Amino acid sequence: EAARLNERTTASRDMFERAGRHLSGGVASSYQLRDPWPIYIARGSGPKVWDVDGNEMWDFHNGFGSMVQGHAHPAIGAAIAARYPQGTHFGCPTEDDVVVADELARRFGLPKWRYTNSGSEATMDAIRIARAFTGRDTVMKIFGSYHGHHDTVMVSIGVEYDKIGDRENLESLPYGAGIPQSVVDMTVAVPFNDAGAMERRIERLTVEGRKPACVIMEAAMMNLGVVLPEPGYLEAVRDITRRHGIVLIFDEVKTGLTVAPGGATDKFGVTPDMVTLAKALGGGLPSGAIGGSEDVMAVVEDGSVYQVGTFNGNPLSMAAARASLEQVLTPDAYAHLDRLNHRIVTGCQGVVDKYDLPGYAVGIGSKGCVTFSTSKVVDYETFKENQDAALADLAWLFNLNRGIFMTPGREEEWTLSVTHTDEAIDAYIAVFDELARELRA
Ligand code: PMP
Repeated sequence: EAARLNERTTASRDMFERAGRHLSGGVASSYQLRDPWPIYIARGSGPKVWDVDGNEMWDFHNGFGSMVQGHAHPAIGAAIAARYPQGTHFGCPTEDDVVVADELARRFGLPKWRYTNSGSEATMDAIRIARAFTGRDTVMKIFGSYHGHHDTVMVSIGVEYDKIGDRENLESLPYGAGIPQSVVDMTVAVPFNDAGAMERRIERLTVEGRKPACVIMEAAMMNLGVVLPEPGYLEAVRDITRRHGIVLIFDEVKTGLTVAPGGATDKFGVTPDMVTLAKALGGGLPSGAIGGSEDVMAVVEDGSVYQVGTFNGNPLSMAAARASLEQVLTPDAYAHLDRLNHRIVTGCQGVVDKYDLPGYAVGIGSKGCVTFSTSKVVDYETFKENQDAALADLAWLFNLNRGIFMTPGREEEWTLSVTHTDEAIDAYIAVFDELARELRA
């Protein structure tokens, strides 16, 4: 399959060679890399993308889960086209900022909002707000979770199994070079789906005088495929953080606006103190947001925290966000996504059952995946221990060679867009069936 893909992507290979001269590593972001070269994309329309070799593909990658609106959605295009002649940047608030904040407050049940340009900026600022609000420095996160590329959260993401440590005392390890050890030491990770371990760790840290300012987490983990919270887990986390006076941040950069109108907060019915958004918010333009309760966001309003950025609330991004919220991500759109996702999950599970593959299909809202694992993944440890990484890699290549475009990482999931149709779902299931048939032949 690898050789076949290389034959199909010679224009990408040539572009990679050209790119390497002045674009470091040939890509704009290290996550775009893959061996032996990345796939360079020429254009996208609705549920499809075309690479520079002209290969047409159903897009399940969707810009790392951002393009839930589909590519070049006419309503968003019209909003951008209408905004452009009126100017695209002033460094001053515009009406769209106000309209979008009103809508996000309604959807997520949190009253106060600010904007950023990315998910990383949103989590960075949210953590600073939590630190200011509590007067504490330690940050608690979930072992294996990704929250962006700033130092505080580039800790305990992807680590080798032998470095995990014992469950109650997971190692805090920097993800890549250049992260100061003193910053790493301020971040403490606990396993997902284990409220008891979280509370015991909080109690120990409190005794040590290192009580956390916040717990930052995804309500459903989105970087080990999809890992759903066990029943009662989120409610327990909400209760623990409230009792200990710790700010609970749901990082909804991936789940927000994609799993339900008001994200995971809405879907699971547990409201944190703060929410971070990005990806799908801008309808394909860079944007992010932080939502919070009145009391937490007071540290922004009273001027003690500077939540700033030249391009925050950029008019072009906010025009796209407004059009997306008002015209594209409607209740009907979520019903459509839920229906299609149910079809793709049950279809893939049917293939797993028919061919007795090691794995299971899982999904929520517009997102899902086939987890190639011999047992249920509930956290990073169970993911690392049981995942059939070779099969996950093969499935990615097999898909790509048959026009199913997925993210270049075995940790990622599919994202459907409102422009996906039954035809796209049928294509996905058919290719998965073909893979399973060949594996069992
Ligand atoms: N939080 C989560 C949960 C994410 O998945 C990501 C990106 N994959 C980020 C934060 C960082 O967002 P960005 O890449 O826009 O900085």
